[in-house]
Amino acid sequence: MSPTHRESERPRCPFCAEPFGRPPESHPNREGDFYKWVCLCGAIGAYDATGHNLGDALMEAIASAYDDDWEKALSMEADKDYEIRYLDCYHPGDHRILQGYRTYKSGLAAFVFVKVKAPKHVH
Ligand SMILES: [Zn+2]
Repeated sequence: MSPTHRESERPRCPFCAEPFGRPPESHPNREGDFYKWVCLCGAIGAYDATGHNLGDALMEAIASAYDDDWEKALSMEADKDYEIRYLDCYHPGDHRILQGYRTYKSGLAAFVFVKVKAPKHVH
């Protein structure tokens, strides 16, 4: 980590603010091949190196959150069963978040995080 990078630019999980490492170089030409990992807080992160395929990255992250059970994943509802948070304006070369840019216009990368909500015990 370069000391010139401000702490606010450090890529962090949008759920728990845990910093995460640089994703491996990906292959944007291969569809459905998003780098995914599980954060300490249980959120699934998916990396979209192009910033253009976040919808697909999101679907993969949701499927991962449900153990790659697509049928189950598709039956779940956003905001009710799981939460979605985005992290965009990611500069892969510098491994930092740029402020004030628009991902899809500037050729930056983006992440999407999915976290399954804990079952509520209402009684
Ligand atoms: Zn987290």
